[in-house]
Amino acid sequence: MENKAIIIVDMLNDFVTGELKCERAGCIIPNLKKLIDAAHIHSVPVIFSNDAHYPQDAEVVHKWGKHAIKGTKGAEVIPELKPSKKDYVVEKRAYSGFYETGLDPLLRSLFDGEGVKTVILCGLHTHMCVRHTAADAFFRGYKIIVAKDGVDAFTQEDHEQGLKYLYDTYNAKLMTSDEIISEFAKTS
Ligand code: ZN
Repeated sequence: MENKAIIIVDMLNDFVTGELKCERAGCIIPNLKKLIDAAHIHSVPVIFSNDAHYPQDAEVVHKWGKHAIKGTKGAEVIPELKPSKKDYVVEKRAYSGFYETGLDPLLRSLFDGEGVKTVILCGLHTHMCVRHTAADAFFRGYKIIVAKDGVDAFTQEDHEQGLKYLYDTYNAKLMTSDEIISEFAKTS
């Protein structure tokens, strides 16, 4: 696992407790907290990929209604996972964290310009924003790890189908947060 970075997708108030509340999201918070703490200890960059919508965005108008509107409380990372000063926050306006954002240039600039080689994806939802972010990561040549106990969806079925799709389509390695943390310890 060389040059890795963690990407935390949409762990925002609106997705956890607000407009698009996901009852199951609570279960992954401790695992994400643990992963982020370990990343800080082992100098693994942590990137928050956050919805920050304009009201006229396609996702808002054609599908989900108002959620994570830029500048609102709903668009902030949940208090439990509040980004630290050394973390990166990249706003997005569509499912994928790469779509018309600065995520790819950021990843390529890290590790003294060597760039990130492996992205570790966590957050919400396994079969939507995580899946679309994985697709774009795959197209750009990144290896993908998914923290299988650090992603979730509205239902168990969506979550499991999401994991299967990530594995089948993008060869995502599905690991527990503890397995990922022990890899950090080995390679740092
Ligand atoms: Zn959205």
